[in-house]
Amino acid sequence: MRYAVIDRGDELSKSLAQQFHTLAEKRGFVRHSDQPDIVISIGGDGTLLEAFHTYVHRIANVAFVGIHTGHLGFYADWKADELEELVAHMAEKPPQIVKYPLAQIEVETSDATLTYLALNEFTLKGVDGTLVAQIDINDELFEMFRGDGIVISTPSGSTAYNKSLGGAIVHPSIQSLQIAEIASINNRVFRTLGSSVLLPKHHHCDIISRKEQRIQLAIDHINQMHTDIRSIRCSVASNVVSFARYRPFPFWNRVREAFLGYDVK
Ligand code: NAP
Repeated sequence: MRYAVIDRGDELSKSLAQQFHTLAEKRGFVRHSDQPDIVISIGGDGTLLEAFHTYVHRIANVAFVGIHTGHLGFYADWKADELEELVAHMAEKPPQIVKYPLAQIEVETSDATLTYLALNEFTLKGVDGTLVAQIDINDELFEMFRGDGIVISTPSGSTAYNKSLGGAIVHPSIQSLQIAEIASINNRVFRTLGSSVLLPKHHHCDIISRKEQRIQLAIDHINQMHTDIRSIRCSVASNVVSFARYRPFPFWNRVREAFLGYDVK
């Protein structure tokens, strides 16, 4: 098995990465940063986002495993003191591969179309003030948006920024996109729906810039600044992300443990 490790960079994560390499070598795993089959993320959910974007170019050929060094993560199943157990599982049995949907955007600028995948979400914000955008669903005008921004999240990203905006938590088996508003302006002149919207896989939405504006586009944790976005087409990607599961950890147990704070009895 060829593997790569991405760690958060703090002392604990770096030392766990070192321990992982030692244990992996004993089991005959091959360290291969360019073309791994399995990518181990050591840190938190933010580290898994980093690992995802490091290997997004070979997303069809790689599976992720998360080890958390802080609190339980949505993408990180294993605790720091379970390293040996994890390596033993990896050596002894093939994992269950769990696939989660991704979001895709095609950003149309004056001279190019840029395509990106997100594991959690895409976030658009106005840099100099109110973001003014037309939102079309399936090529028909849905609403005119004025406000701080728009978040387009995946099901597994629904527990991140989307949740802070009052969006619904969506099980990752539901192939969908969620559109959530950040502080929309609603009065007698300007009107948006207000609630978040869930689009199924066969639908798409376009966010069309309706003034000359600088737009901050975040692709998960990666921020970009654009001056010439014309429109952004958002859809459920045809690619999926794979997680290697060596023991079950149901999504609703993660939600309960992360947000409500109690373990299974
Ligand atoms: P960060 O600001 O350092 O951390 C954001 C927090 O979100 C961390 O606690 C992270 O967990 C957690 N997180 C990441 N993915 C999650 C998921 N799928 N479900 C539940 N929690 C999740 O930023 P970062 O580490 O670079 O992560 C970028 C993410 O931050 C973005 O994708 C966005 O979802 C989130 N964010 C949230 C808000 C908000 O809620 N108001 C605002 C901006 C961005 P770990 O500590 O385990 O890494």
